Amino acid sequence: MIGLEIHAQMKTETKAFCRCSTDFHSSPNSNVCPVCLGFPGCLPVLNEKLVEFTIRMGLAANCRIRSSSIFARKNYFYPDLTKGYQITQFDTPLCYDGYLNIKLKNKEIKKIGITRIHIEEDAGKSIHDFHDDETLIDFNRCGVPLIEIVSEPDMNSTEEAFLYLSKIKQTLVYLDINDGNMEEGSLRCDANISLKLKGSDQLGTRTEIKNLNSFKNVSDAIEAEIKRQTSVLESGEKVSYHTMTYNAKDKTTAATRTKEEAHDYRYFPEPDLVKLKVSEERINMVRKNLPEFPDERRIRFIKEYSLPESDSEEITHDRNFADYFENVTGYLTVKNERSFRTASNIVRAEVRKVMNEKKIGINEFPVPAKAIALIADSVTSGKISITASKEIFTKMLSGKNEEEILKIFKESEANLSIVSDTSEIESIVKIVIGSNPKEAERYKSGEKKLAGFFVGKIMQESKGKADPKIVNELLIKILEV
Ligand SMILES: [Zn+2]
Repeated sequence: MIGLEIHAQMKTETKAFCRCSTDFHSSPNSNVCPVCLGFPGCLPVLNEKLVEFTIRMGLAANCRIRSSSIFARKNYFYPDLTKGYQITQFDTPLCYDGYLNIKLKNKEIKKIGITRIHIEEDAGKSIHDFHDDETLIDFNRCGVPLIEIVSEPDMNSTEEAFLYLSKIKQTLVYLDINDGNMEEGSLRCDANISLKLKGSDQLGTRTEIKNLNSFKNVSDAIEAEIKRQTSVLESGEKVSYHTMTYNAKDKTTAATRTKEEAHDYRYFPEPDLVKLKVSEERINMVRKNLPEFPDERRIRFIKEYSLPESDSEEITHDRNFADYFENVTGYLTVKNERSFRTASNIVRAEVRKVMNEKKIGINEFPVPAKAIALIADSVTSGKISITASKEIFTKMLSGKNEEEILKIFKESEANLSIVSDTSEIESIVKIVIGSNPKEAERYKSGEKKLAGFFVGKIMQESKGKADPKIVNELLIKILEV
């Protein structure tokens, strides 16, 4: 049984309880003040946007929203936590009792329970790798707002854990409250794992793997821990309650310390903050402003753009990518099934290929949606072939700005327009047949499949510009004389 605890940094401009910036790229220890450094006598003030963002996630995850909740101090000593405690929510999380659905490989829908979503602040960052015998501390992250999303132990395989984590990330990004960037630490995950003997209903002891910071590590670490626990149980021993770390180098998990229990943290109500009251009116306001969710968008794309389900899923998986596709469709001059499909093909194949090659997101993709729409229009109206559209697309990538890219399109379109002039095509057909006499003979003696060979040669000769329909007609007419 697997449960995940996911920490997601909220995209607010300022920290959870003070006005310091949350900018990740600022120089070390520049975003700090007496409140987030925990100077005595300073009072925290709750960030209103943070409450709104947490409710957004709560509603998206089908949670109940608590009308009155309090903050608590979680006490522990660590060099990068100058206050000696973290402000969090303990027994009254703002959101609770929710779920999200995941779609398994066999298309089955599985409901994963969400126990709670609460607000907390992050600690600073200790940097050990600059010096051998010294540790540097950066307090910029102290007080950065997080939400912790705790699932029920409803997942039963690494695949399910992976799908659930993807769903959480996708939802956070769609809600525009987190940037989904695991490498920069804005999404981190702890995994709880326990094994149960087949047929038994007694739960095994669980262990918790801390601080997994990539999708691959989450999958690999869970796999490794399942293996480790299995061998412990098979040798007749007991799994003990431990916090584990994952070593990505040799793909193993190891115990770091006996797991703390809640009472080790001496939780008590934060005396410096008032109760957090959330009215029904306020919840409704947040609900009203929720964006379209991925599942809704996928269904709408199927209807509105006549896309096959798999294409729609591929496009809507990433919010920004889906936005880009919608921008392209907005610029299409003819809006019908054919033009939407053409636009979808270009975006899913050509645009995606460049993004993968250059390892960039759609927001850094250089060609504007308007230019992609021009290519799609030209293909749909039969002005250029699909082969030519790919060539134009590649040429446009060298444009430095929108103006230049549109100019490249105009020039290339004129050069690559489909030739429908019968006499011009006929002369090419004759040349190709003339220079391949053996194949022509074989065709005449019944090897009809050689037609494909000739069409290929003719298209090549015409640089992809000959109208394929006319090519086919003329080829058969001339060969079968
Ligand atoms: Zn501050």
